Amino acid sequence: MSTRIEVIEDILDVNKQKAASNREIFDQSSVFTINLMASPGAGKTSLIELTIKQLSHRISIAVIDGDIATSLDADRAAAAGAKAVQINTGGGCHLDAMMIEHALKELSLNEVDLLIIENVGNLICPAGFPLGTHKNILIASTPEGDDKPYKYPTMYNGVDALIINKIDLLPYVSFNMDYFRQGVELLNPGLEAFPMSCQTQEGLELWIQWIIAQVENNQKRLLIDNN
Ligand code: MG
Ligand code: ZN
Repeated sequence: MSTRIEVIEDILDVNKQKAASNREIFDQSSVFTINLMASPGAGKTSLIELTIKQLSHRISIAVIDGDIATSLDADRAAAAGAKAVQINTGGGCHLDAMMIEHALKELSLNEVDLLIIENVGNLICPAGFPLGTHKNILIASTPEGDDKPYKYPTMYNGVDALIINKIDLLPYVSFNMDYFRQGVELLNPGLEAFPMSCQTQEGLELWIQWIIAQVENNQKRLLIDNN
């Protein structure tokens, strides 16, 4: 029993060290990075496509796409105009910092302003494996139901921003926004939230403005740190 616990702690420890070294690489290349997490079908790839389409004329974007088997999502990101690298986890249900370190070798990070990592669709273990990104971001979607913060507290507790997608479906699904947001507030007080619809693009503009500000602030911070 205790050996098993120690093995798990070692795995998490190695991941933490690799995450820290990934962060150093990101900062050396002055690239702002996000780890996008969600359950399957919440809209990760759709949000990435829209973000690329809105921003690729202003900043250079790369995507690392984690999936169990296919390269469908990376293909969509590449079609939208980003440099995209696929990681197939071969059945694994989350990305870890070592996989990211490996994928980074395929990117010329110095030419990238924003790196979006699309994690495997899963609300449980991605929360336990930090990748070294500057921000961890969760997408919730209204058809999943309003009880998810209560059922997956570790995920909701550990993120830096929350997208609430598919608000266009609110009239058709059982989703009490107040109950949902009370749960979020309990776990992660003051968490920045972006209600939106990738389908109608309602609310998208605030997210785009936020991302641009994050990229710019990151570049300013690194300039100050280096002087
Ligand atoms: Mg996807
Ligand atoms: Zn997993």
